Amino acid sequence: MQLQFENCGSASGVSQGTINGVSAFESCLMPQTTCPQLACNMQTEHSYADLPSTLFELCTPTPVGAPSWLAFNHPLAAELGFDPALAETDAGLQLLSGNQVAAWSNPLAQAYSGHQFGHLSPRLGDGRALLLAEIIDQQQQRRDIQLKGAGPTPYSRRGDGRSALGPVIREYLVSEAMFALGVPTSRALAAVITGETVYRDQPKPGGILTRVAASHIRIGTFQFASMLKDGGTAQHDSSLKSLADYVIKRHYPECVHAEQPYLALLNSVIQAQAALVAQWMSLGFIHGVMNTDNMSISGETIDYGPCAFIDQFDPDTVFSSIDQHGRYAYRNQPMIAQWNLARLAEALLPLLADAETDAVALATTALNQFPELYYQAWQDRMSAKLGLSSSAAAKTLAEQLLQLLAANKVDFTIFFRTLAFALSDVSAVKGPATLFTDQQGWLVWAAQWQQQLSGEPAAIQHSMNAVNPFFIPRNHQIELIISQVTEQGDLTLFQQFARDLSSPFTENADNQRWAAAAPPSDLPYRTFCGT
Ligand code: AMP
Ligand code: MG
Repeated sequence: MQLQFENCGSASGVSQGTINGVSAFESCLMPQTTCPQLACNMQTEHSYADLPSTLFELCTPTPVGAPSWLAFNHPLAAELGFDPALAETDAGLQLLSGNQVAAWSNPLAQAYSGHQFGHLSPRLGDGRALLLAEIIDQQQQRRDIQLKGAGPTPYSRRGDGRSALGPVIREYLVSEAMFALGVPTSRALAAVITGETVYRDQPKPGGILTRVAASHIRIGTFQFASMLKDGGTAQHDSSLKSLADYVIKRHYPECVHAEQPYLALLNSVIQAQAALVAQWMSLGFIHGVMNTDNMSISGETIDYGPCAFIDQFDPDTVFSSIDQHGRYAYRNQPMIAQWNLARLAEALLPLLADAETDAVALATTALNQFPELYYQAWQDRMSAKLGLSSSAAAKTLAEQLLQLLAANKVDFTIFFRTLAFALSDVSAVKGPATLFTDQQGWLVWAAQWQQQLSGEPAAIQHSMNAVNPFFIPRNHQIELIISQVTEQGDLTLFQQFARDLSSPFTENADNQRWAAAAPPSDLPYRTFCGT
């Protein structure tokens, strides 16, 4: 059953038309080696392991030779109530490199399917990630602690279960930067250098990321559960129903009280992902691999692979070297999110109504709300970026602006940050006027923009600077950091960026260097898959 739905139109950076385009698990079978001294007072649970066993495989990490710390995120550790005895200590290193399994941990790999570049892979799953435990944090929120790159699992297929250090560095820095930018995202608790070599196109140093997320349940998890077609009897719930009930309880508890809880769940995920992608678009973020297995049910950004922020604005931008047909280009992201949500809706059909035609009608109505939800969220974001008090005026102004930015190859982040300088003087030398070759085009747009402004310039500037970052993780800087760590063993730049990224909206002496545009020699930029 393939659902049809009305997709996003052509406006606002959204594209129109069609989209382009088990063996070596000895470690998993060994009895777990638990380490009693790593038991502590953290509040940990294992609710995922109570789901039907079809949905995961218990599996222990494979030890590494000579681990060392790359990073430990102390503020996040405090938020989690993570045992201070494990922070940057040898005990912590043994645990977060997978060399020891704590008594509070019950590692498992989650099963999922996924549409990868539009093609269904029925059995993916955590091929190189292991859920250690759920921590109940200081705010009483349940959060997954996962090791990424901790060795083979029953879902590894031909992969080695490992991560190269470069992608670990990128995920650590970009996910933490996204958090600081206010975007829902998985977090990075720690990064470890394994001391071992992984083989990709060439030998590379290995790394392990400790990832924290509201959960790692994906659209692909529902696709996997729905394809099992198990249970569903009076005595025995299907894996799909168990998963849906679990997700409602964990992420969308308000749905329990809805007349149709599973429809309410679908609507909630549609809403969360529409809001998320609108926020990505407003920051120039390109996820890179929006396969259904990389889209979180909770509405967080997860699975940072060949992701990157746009430099000079061009809606057709694709950074990922594996995305040869531009399926996941900047402009396609909203439409792809809706396409992915249609796959979620298909997976949920058996729970929506007894008769398939009724279920399809409900799902289609839900999916058809996506464009409206997306545009409203996008308009609100653009309105705030432009310093407007009414979001209604923002749509046309923002659409015209994006065309102008593209035609003039203007740096997206620098433009919005400097726009506030033009509040009273559109030709201000520190303002965006200098970024445009088409001065006339800029002046016409700026005059229309000024007409829509209301309020004190100082107050507008303040509000604009709170949403338009002074700096983002620039691609050329991330590449430089990765090469310094992986080729020279020099952590200095990594540590400086990891420190500065927490205040992207405040300009200061330390963060000037992160704000500069990429030198022309670094464009166009390409990233390689996060394996
Ligand atoms: P990703 O491209 O990282 O989203 O991964 C897509 C699928 O491939 C997931 O099922 C991963 O677990 C799996 N995978 C990626 N890299 C590896 C690896 N090095 N070893 C085993 N499985 C992997
Ligand atoms: Mg993935």
